[in-house]
Amino acid sequence: MRIPVRAASHSYAVTIGKGILNEAVKSLHDVFAKADKVIVLTDENVWAAQQDYFEANFPHAFQVMVMPAGETCKTFDNYNAVQTFLLEQKCTRKSLVIAFGGGAVGDLAGFVAATYMRGIPFIQVPTTILAHDSAVGGKTAINHVLGKNMIGAFYQPVAVVYDTNFLLTLSEKEVRSGMAEVIKHALISDAQWVEELLEGEYVTELPEELMANYLAHGVQVKANIVEQDETEQSVRKFLNLGHTYGHAIEAAAGYGRVAHGEAVMIGLVYCLLLSERYGKINHAFTKRFLHFAEENGYPFAAVHDFTFEQLTEYLMKDKKADYGQLQFVLLETIGKPFVQKVELMECKEIDEQFRQLLV
Ligand code: NAD
Ligand code: ZN
Repeated sequence: MRIPVRAASHSYAVTIGKGILNEAVKSLHDVFAKADKVIVLTDENVWAAQQDYFEANFPHAFQVMVMPAGETCKTFDNYNAVQTFLLEQKCTRKSLVIAFGGGAVGDLAGFVAATYMRGIPFIQVPTTILAHDSAVGGKTAINHVLGKNMIGAFYQPVAVVYDTNFLLTLSEKEVRSGMAEVIKHALISDAQWVEELLEGEYVTELPEELMANYLAHGVQVKANIVEQDETEQSVRKFLNLGHTYGHAIEAAAGYGRVAHGEAVMIGLVYCLLLSERYGKINHAFTKRFLHFAEENGYPFAAVHDFTFEQLTEYLMKDKKADYGQLQFVLLETIGKPFVQKVELMECKEIDEQFRQLLV
């Protein structure tokens, strides 16, 4: 399946399906014909799990750099090491970067491509469920010790090639994490889809074909939003549903302990509680959603590891925070997101309500 993304700066397609790597890459012959070198950036886990399949199906010669896994690849040190590698390989402005991995590799490789010689082309080859979100839309970044994703650029890939065979080696934790972003896409766009997810099988046990459909649906939701607002001036903010509180949990726990999507799921429940107050979400729905998330093994116990005061430190670091007020994406009803400023005192009240619901 091909899903076009018509971003203001550049249009490209997301090709998604099982076993499509070889054909989808071949169909990009114009891009590869122009490239004097192809550099594959990946991480140690992805390469260990998927090297054989990648080498058997990738139809071009390439140089590979295998980076440390997870957030470690988004450090300044690793960014520097990758740029050094490109320079040593004598890459030019015509060289092509392939981001082969999850969101971390994609964010790093995209930022490398955005900045090497002021910008060279790159292709996203996502390998996680979460990356159905991160690989589309052109947000690239590395982390600063003072904040995650603080140094980055909007820089669109020339294509996204999403072969769902890569997902077969993901751990349950990573499947659960990625599915939270799928559920987020459902919540901001489509009440019927949310029903289907809530009534469906465990997120870690979805049949392959259904999973591929959900990923395509999620990519479509993201593409529609990015087409309207590439640089997050308006509707792109909706994609941050669950992320304000979620990022605070993720950061407080220490990156990697609670996976990004696991933290987002916690943030989604928090936003539903806030949406009862500012929107028309009813409490029965919030409780049902929480029950679904708990049944699916999302780690809500993490909330009790921190006081609200501890979380506040991280909440205030949010890129959208402003003088004692936080900006949240909330839901009027399922499928109808809006942006709302909320006073910190009120955030604390909802936090208390949330904790009571969890005991
Ligand atoms: P990740 O890239 O760290 O991957 C998670 C783990 O799974 C890593 O240990 C990785 O090595 C491993 N892995 C990846 N693919 C695998 C496979 N096929 N088989 C076995 N193991 C595999 O994390 P992620 O969850 O994909 O993405 C999280 C990152 O994405 C964060 O850095 C977050 O900030 C970023 N993100 C970016 C955007 C965006 O719009 N740019 C959106 C959401 C998240
Ligand atoms: Zn996210």
